Amino acid sequence: MIIPKANKLSTNELKEVEAIASDFECSILEIQGHNRCVYAILGDESREVMFKRIAGLPFISKVDMIESPYKLMDRRSGLADHRVLVGKTEVGKEEPFFIAGPCTIDPNNPNLYLESAHAIKEAGAHALRGGVWKPRTNPYSYQGDNQSLEIILQAREETRLPIDIEVMDSEQLKLALDAKVDVLQIGTRNALNYSLLKEVGKLSAGSDTTVLLKRGRHVGSPNEFIAAAEYIVAEGNPNVMLCPRGTTPQLEGYRNHPDESITPLLKNRTWAPVVVDPSHSVGHADFVKACSLAAIAYGADGLCIESHIDPPKGIGDDPKQAISPDKLKELIQSCQEVWKSRYLP
Ligand code: PEP
Ligand code: MN
Repeated sequence: MIIPKANKLSTNELKEVEAIASDFECSILEIQGHNRCVYAILGDESREVMFKRIAGLPFISKVDMIESPYKLMDRRSGLADHRVLVGKTEVGKEEPFFIAGPCTIDPNNPNLYLESAHAIKEAGAHALRGGVWKPRTNPYSYQGDNQSLEIILQAREETRLPIDIEVMDSEQLKLALDAKVDVLQIGTRNALNYSLLKEVGKLSAGSDTTVLLKRGRHVGSPNEFIAAAEYIVAEGNPNVMLCPRGTTPQLEGYRNHPDESITPLLKNRTWAPVVVDPSHSVGHADFVKACSLAAIAYGADGLCIESHIDPPKGIGDDPKQAISPDKLKELIQSCQEVWKSRYLP
């Protein structure tokens, strides 16, 4: 990784670096962070001579070789001080960051979503979630509708909160990017879909879009999860958040096995914010608060919570796991207390 002395290389400086890299059959990728640019060497970067030549250029501060399967996501990388923003708010800076909203937007009842959105804003959330297209285990269950994109865009307009939607393929990705969706959620089913992760990174490079990557049942070790996020960053978008949301169920009664305890491991290895999803983790409205408090105590930077003004009227996961905006408000306040008193290494 190449770190320039200034915030960014000029066109001529970049050309000089690229010329050296190409002598060694490598190329350079510019990664635009919020406060600075860093440059990744793509190809076999283990050439000492190439390193020395680049490091010797007068406008280069340093060239680091990080031997890690996730050299850009690594805490030791030049992106270590990268700040991840959603809308204008830096995630996990002064208080826990809350994304909240229904699991699924009902296109036949836009008001239910819009009213939920207003109540969720009142409760103190920083961003709105809402499923437009849904990954459903049962192929005959409701799969989503393009019309719901219009509804969540209207909610953004009315509440001025940034929005988070899940995309599962290129077509959805392009529609979401055209609509300047603030957070692209890559759900657990696609967390290891490397072609999609690369496309997400490439098409959102240089934009303000942030990606929420979920860890699900089939994502194993912390490193496998971080390496999946690396695919997005290595295509040019460093705005990623890691989202543990429960793994293979082991305790009869929970939908998934709560995995918020992975948070300190992720935070120890990477600079990326961790935003835990307690709703999909425990899968029952009654257990969401306990899981949320635990996640914050473990060091999470934020939470993604399913909330709906009338959960029994919701679709998808809402009848089981969405909490009311009143409960969300209480939960946010309690999490803020834990945030202030928590011990972090
Ligand atoms: C969701 O957020 O509603 C969802 C389907 O998420 P996951 O990928 O965690 O199952
Ligand atoms: Mn859901």
